[in-house]
Amino acid sequence: MDLEGTIIRGYSGFYYVWDGATLWECKLRGRYKISENTFLPGDKVRFKILDAPSAKAVIEFAYPRKNELIRPSICNVDQALIVMAIKDPEADLWLVDRLLINLLFNNIEPIICFSKADLVSLDSSREIYNEYRDSGFPRYIISTVDHRGVDQLRQLLKGKISVLSGPSGVGKSSIINIIEPALQRKTGEISLRSSRGKHTTRSVELLPLSTGGYVADTPGFSQMHLPDIKKERLAGYYKEFDSYAPFCKFSSCLHRDEPQCAVRDAVDSGMISSKRYRNYLLLLKEIIEKKRRY
Ligand code: ZN
Repeated sequence: MDLEGTIIRGYSGFYYVWDGATLWECKLRGRYKISENTFLPGDKVRFKILDAPSAKAVIEFAYPRKNELIRPSICNVDQALIVMAIKDPEADLWLVDRLLINLLFNNIEPIICFSKADLVSLDSSREIYNEYRDSGFPRYIISTVDHRGVDQLRQLLKGKISVLSGPSGVGKSSIINIIEPALQRKTGEISLRSSRGKHTTRSVELLPLSTGGYVADTPGFSQMHLPDIKKERLAGYYKEFDSYAPFCKFSSCLHRDEPQCAVRDAVDSGMISSKRYRNYLLLLKEIIEKKRRY
């Protein structure tokens, strides 16, 4: 009888497949052995049991992927949580914006999670939350100390493959552990190691949640290169520009130094977050300079 499951990791020629109850150590059928990295964590597969007591099986078939990331190597990602501490370390909104662009470019839905909310006043967390008010992205304020936002986050991860991204020290491992306390026992060592920023080259592992979803802690995901986007397309990633851009004098306006730019006016009058706009300008500059180099 064939069973179905999700590959949660690959390790020295074996793939570990979780079917919701058992972790199966799977080999590949001969025809799959041609290429080394045939499968990725996130692949949905059908497998045949070789030996049930020792949970050994063989992969028969993999379903087509809905998406695939190269760094980190993972597929079928439903959403990515951008985890950024409000304090300690100081929030890096420049990195948030870079990650947002990258995820959108890869057709992965971003969700912004501001963590360590217990370290700051309500006003401070509200301030950072409001920087993304008109960005269109779902935002959450999280604290693993006073459990703020934890239930909402748990709901959000239910039944989905989610990637946690963000710099080290923002509490990604603590978030995983509070969402799924059982994982602490199973993966505590791995989580601890990655939180110290070591083993940055280790391959991705999906952690199964009791709600049916998976989370991937992905060290190194914070230093992503900017994707190959055209400068004219960048403003499209800033939803807060949408209601102003049609009123710019030039339809080709890059909202930089063109005359009668409605977006810049909106920034000046406080309708658009000046931090978001500044990040837009920096990204625009980077894209233009990158093009010039080739
Ligand atoms: Zn403009």
